[in-house]
Amino acid sequence: MASHCCEAMNSHVNVRCDQHDDRFACPDVLIEFRAAFQEYGLIIHDGGSSSSTIEFCPWCGRRLPESQRDRWFDELERRGIDPWEDEVPAEFQDDRWLAATPQD
Ligand SMILES: [Zn+2]
Ligand SMILES: [Zn+2]
Repeated sequence: MASHCCEAMNSHVNVRCDQHDDRFACPDVLIEFRAAFQEYGLIIHDGGSSSSTIEFCPWCGRRLPESQRDRWFDELERRGIDPWEDEVPAEFQDDRWLAATPQD
């Protein structure tokens, strides 16, 4: 299990609710962690699936890891994959691609 900046963030990212299959439908879930991008979002409970990306932890105040979204697109492009048209490989659907990709 990935560990985050503090216990509070850990527990919010890992909230499991047996009443809501969709995390966005659950009022107890405040944080959406997009592992593939290493992005944290504050869920906006407006009935949709929107969230607002945050740069600092609301609980401990630490700066969160830098978003890897641009690298994600670059890496797929380098492999000749168009994420809108082609199937995105499994390791790109979570943070496994980061381990397989050397840092510059
Ligand atoms: Zn719930
Ligand atoms: Zn924190």
